[in-house]
Amino acid sequence: MAESAPEFAPRNPGAQLVDPALLPFLPMLYVAWADGDLSPEEMTAICRRLGDDCQSLLGPWLDPEQPPTAVELQQMLALIRQRTGELSAREKLTLTGLGLRLAQADDRQVSGEERQALVEIEEALGISGYEAARQMLATRRPAEPVEEVEPAFDVRAMQRLLDGQDHELRERLRRFLSRPELRRRDELSRGEYRERVLGWCRELAAEGFGALSYPTSCGGEDDAGRFIAVFETLAFGDLSLLVKFGVQFGLFGGSILSLGTARHHLRYLLRVGRLELPGCFAMTETGHGSNVHDLETVARYDPETEEFVLHTPHDGARKDYIGNAACHGRLATVFAQLEAGDDSHGVHAFLVPIREEDGRPSPGVSIEDCGEKMGLNGVDNGRLWFDNVRIPRLNLLDRFAQVAADGSYRSQIPSPSKRFFTMLGTLVGGRVSVALASLSAAKSALAIAVRYGSERRQFGPSGEAELKLLDYLTHQRRLMPPLATTYALHFALDDLRSEYVASSDLDRREVETLAAGLKAYATWHATETIQVCRECCGGQGYLAANRFADLKADTEIFTTFEGDNTVLLQLVAKSLLTGYQHHFGQMNFLGLVRFIADQATTAIAELNPVTTRLTHETHLRDREFHLGAFGWREQHLLATVARRLKKRIDDGMETSRAFIECQDHLMATARAHVERTVLASLTAAEESAADDLRRMLGLLGDLFALSRIESDRGWFLEQGYFEPSKAKAVRKLVNRLCREVRQQAVPLVEAFGIPQELLAAPIAR
Ligand SMILES: Cc1cc2nc3c(=O)[nH]c(=O)nc-3n(C[C@H](O)[C@H](O)[C@H](O)COP(=O)(O)OP(=O)(O)OC[C@H]3O[C@@H](n4cnc5c(N)ncnc54)[C@H](O)[C@@H]3O)c2cc1C
Repeated sequence: MAESAPEFAPRNPGAQLVDPALLPFLPMLYVAWADGDLSPEEMTAICRRLGDDCQSLLGPWLDPEQPPTAVELQQMLALIRQRTGELSAREKLTLTGLGLRLAQADDRQVSGEERQALVEIEEALGISGYEAARQMLATRRPAEPVEEVEPAFDVRAMQRLLDGQDHELRERLRRFLSRPELRRRDELSRGEYRERVLGWCRELAAEGFGALSYPTSCGGEDDAGRFIAVFETLAFGDLSLLVKFGVQFGLFGGSILSLGTARHHLRYLLRVGRLELPGCFAMTETGHGSNVHDLETVARYDPETEEFVLHTPHDGARKDYIGNAACHGRLATVFAQLEAGDDSHGVHAFLVPIREEDGRPSPGVSIEDCGEKMGLNGVDNGRLWFDNVRIPRLNLLDRFAQVAADGSYRSQIPSPSKRFFTMLGTLVGGRVSVALASLSAAKSALAIAVRYGSERRQFGPSGEAELKLLDYLTHQRRLMPPLATTYALHFALDDLRSEYVASSDLDRREVETLAAGLKAYATWHATETIQVCRECCGGQGYLAANRFADLKADTEIFTTFEGDNTVLLQLVAKSLLTGYQHHFGQMNFLGLVRFIADQATTAIAELNPVTTRLTHETHLRDREFHLGAFGWREQHLLATVARRLKKRIDDGMETSRAFIECQDHLMATARAHVERTVLASLTAAEESAADDLRRMLGLLGDLFALSRIESDRGWFLEQGYFEPSKAKAVRKLVNRLCREVRQQAVPLVEAFGIPQELLAAPIAR
């Protein structure tokens, strides 16, 4: 039977306020009504939890039908302030403490039932720290504008920490990029812009930046980590230059390095690294982008002439969107189905000349310009068709598979699917690089918006100075969580880079999963951050000179190339499911899914009823709590998606169909995995940092973790991981942390180390 709502006695407005019995409850009542924090249902629920005496005392003040008037609220606040005075900076009181202080000031004893009632209400309000009492007594007036404070940390040291071991290299590149001649001129036509970008690329090559990952015998330093650091730093500048650089030295040169053998390295890499041999990476076709496995370009072996014959069977199989193809590329790494005799051996990479020295297409090759794009118009993307183009047998990039003169095929990886994934896996460096570059773009946007927000003023109390934009809670809410996420991602991507560099080409499964997940997370983060930064700069943000137009247009596609984000996250989820294979040897996929599904019950059962209600600040800012919540979410999602898959497969559904029906769940699982990884990296960086940096990273970590928990609170509440009071406490704490981070926001963006010449936006000066 439904419980009936308690009867509320009518209130005699104003008169009861001076009732001494009410004194300890005044702070709670004030907060409950003044912030509009409790719904009528919650008010009724609180009242029901009180003992009889307290119910009759407080009932009239908790009646949703009879909220206190504005005058009564003012009287309440005046009474509280008058009885307690302002708290000194050192004093710390919770709302309960403040209530007890009021009673004490009036020589009034507080009964056990009343103390219990205070605790109940405080918990329902979700306010268990000291800030509420302090604000009530000291800052209930309009918030004072926060003046810029001295940096609470050593900005140079933070930049050194972010730059890592490649600090000198990055500084060299910063100086190089800061030269005025490397600035894009708006008046350039598309053709001129492309030539300008090619020229800049040549200069970078001449400085040795392009060849860093190539063997020393080919003019490089054999150092993939330094090459990636260059790519990341380049992304502070012109993004067409970044992408052109990436296509030439990373994708084209990288494919020769990873898929070719010494013969190819010695023959080509020196010239590739010097940009004497401009080239392309031609994988995507009009008909097949994400689905590389089913590409349709054919490379048929002709034993008579010992040549491969490259052919585009129909228009849908033309190579599309290929960087460097429209104007400059002369040689291309072309991905095609290898056919020899009666057998088809799947997708392999071949070196195919596409353009002669004089710029005309090579015989049998047709080239078309993709034309104007949404952004990145300094890069010449083009389309390629092959009409029975003959190339020597040795142009097969044959590290993982060889074709002998007689056409016999041999590979050290017998399984075709394993071979395919091993070949693609060697190219994961591109994904790592794009993730880092997107984060650099987000840093530029944040640096511009934070600097602008710390100067620009709008509105304010009458007769007083207008407030700085950054002093508005909404501005802090929009910019500070992305700033914290950017720091967190920085360390996660740094770890990814290290793991990539340390891993072997043949054992990259975990790095590939991490790279796929972080690439998706970082590029989406960049797109969202740039958009919000533009909005935070108002109309100024719309001026091309202030850079958001280019930043938006140029990074937009980062979510698609080097692997479409949605496709990548599904790979991450699948990899998490099959990751259990390590523990269970040869168990087949269905066996795995069944096993993981059985874990669901355990994972769900592990909730601690006390923790779900804890709202005090020490707990909410405890990294163990954050990591626990992120880990629990990931495990829970993984276990329950396995259960959903298992049910479908048990009912006879084909596995691929079952996957499609669970795509939403797979995406959520992958995101949860990535977020936990990001938080773990930030925590590790924090633990090993010097004192002042550690405190700053701790604050950023708290904001990152709690803002993510807040944005997923619907899910956590749905699962009973925490109660509404905890969700509210998180929301309030996020507000406070945003305010704290705001005070250090300017030095925090300074520490990104973006030279003024590169930041360029007039509003950021
Ligand atoms: C500026 C630019 C430069 C490029 N440079 C190069 C280059 O140098 N070399 C090169 O080879 N390629 C290049 N590309 C191509 C790029 O790699 C592809 O665009 C990318 O791989 C995505 O393929 P697609 O465009 O065919 O999209 P599709 O694969 O058709 O995807 C379209 C949409 O369908 C969704 N989708 C696809 N499959 C699934 C699924 N299984 N489940 C759910 N949703 C799905 C995707 O999420 C996406 O939203 C470039 C592209 C651009 C735009």
